[in-house]
Amino acid sequence: DMMTKDQYIESLRKLHLNLYSFGEKVENPVDNAIIRPSLNSFAATYELAEDPQYEDLMTATSNLTGKKINRFTHLHQSTDDLIKKVKMQRLLGQKTAACFQRCVGMDASNAVYSTTYETDEACGTHYFDNFVKFWTDVQENDWAVDGAMTDVKGDRSLSPSKQADPDLFLHVVERTADGVYVTGAKAHQTGYINSHYVLVMPTISMREGDEDYAISFACPTDAEGITLILGRQSCDTRKTEEYNDIDVGNKVYGGHEVLVIFDHVFIPNEMIFLNGEVQFAGMMVERFAGYHRQSYGGCKVGVGDVLIGATALAGDMAGSAKASHVKDKLIEMTHLNETLYCCGIACSSQGTKTRSGNYLIDLLLANVCKQNVTRFPYEIARLAQDLAGGLMVTQPSEADYRNPATHDYIEKYLKGVASVPTEDRMRVLRLIENMTMGTAAVGYLPESMHGAGSPQAQRIMIARQSNLEMKKELAKKIARIK
Ligand code: SF4
Ligand code: FE
Repeated sequence: DMMTKDQYIESLRKLHLNLYSFGEKVENPVDNAIIRPSLNSFAATYELAEDPQYEDLMTATSNLTGKKINRFTHLHQSTDDLIKKVKMQRLLGQKTAACFQRCVGMDASNAVYSTTYETDEACGTHYFDNFVKFWTDVQENDWAVDGAMTDVKGDRSLSPSKQADPDLFLHVVERTADGVYVTGAKAHQTGYINSHYVLVMPTISMREGDEDYAISFACPTDAEGITLILGRQSCDTRKTEEYNDIDVGNKVYGGHEVLVIFDHVFIPNEMIFLNGEVQFAGMMVERFAGYHRQSYGGCKVGVGDVLIGATALAGDMAGSAKASHVKDKLIEMTHLNETLYCCGIACSSQGTKTRSGNYLIDLLLANVCKQNVTRFPYEIARLAQDLAGGLMVTQPSEADYRNPATHDYIEKYLKGVASVPTEDRMRVLRLIENMTMGTAAVGYLPESMHGAGSPQAQRIMIARQSNLEMKKELAKKIARIK
């Protein structure tokens, strides 16, 4: 059955993650001040699914069991499902103004589902059965699953098997009758600490000779041999200060990334979904990336909605809302944000059925979607900083605001429109700072650039899908060239 938000949070207390942060082992990630906002974001995917007004977007009917499940665990059965996925992500972005992390596992599951089906057809393997059994458990228990693709990659000019250190790409180091042992590391893992399982995929297309690296599997996030190191974010320690309400900008929600190290981790046969079939590694990578590039046309748009709203509020509070350039810049921000949404909806509505029966987005349009995401949030953030003004980065701290020696000066001199409390203005400016250069900028800017693949990865896919030969034929026909 679906978990409630509270059941989900309690279930994470049972994990024994081997996690390090700021030089220390973290014994209780659930109540850790730096990590907790990311848990709150993840938990919103459970909380909204409990709310009847969001039932249509947040839940779906499982094709595996016929039961009602959280849409984040759904294998998309139609283009309508693909569109609802994007709308759900925009909703979550609006509610959290952060990365809510659960999309990675959703995108990984849909890619692995269709790829294992086609691998089995071609190679006579049994990965699809393994995956369906695992994913049925995920749906039945409403588990949180992290999808792990990005390897650390070492020397970018060398293939996995040619690296000086063979562990720079995750690979099989030992084979037994019951399964395999893997060693390596996955970087930038979004939401791992808030997940029960990790679903691992290869990071790039593989060639002959790379068999040990063409490996996909799932295991518990706290499996023996896994070590986690938390990435730090700009301004993160503001969360641990005594006054940690105004200055953090977004007190409740956030995201996190971890470096995940696999040191001789055992994976039993039934949890393996690809094992040496090098020709199918590329399909898995391409499909996962495609789904996750679609995802950004939802989540980043929802976060953009909050940033546009904060910018408009800052204008209202400063009395500048009626200036024509302010209105025009808000229009531009909206235009850019909705353009991203158009691409997310477009690649969903043009989706097609895979041989396994689930639906894949249009890969060309999904890559165009993500390519725009590598640009437009920066322009939206630039306009937000333009309109917010310098106080966004020079206003005194909350501690000074709470200090009787300085409070009255801040109250008096940071006032904009007389009817607006100074504290409200400070809050909205800190939110803009948080999203464009603080902890949430990790998710809104560099993650828009590099998450789901850096810009060049989309350009390669756009080139591959652009069908130039067909376009040349069109031109030849019109120009009457024989
Ligand atoms: Fe979901 Fe966006 Fe976070 Fe990716 S970046 S996991 S799509 S919220
Ligand atoms: Fe991401």
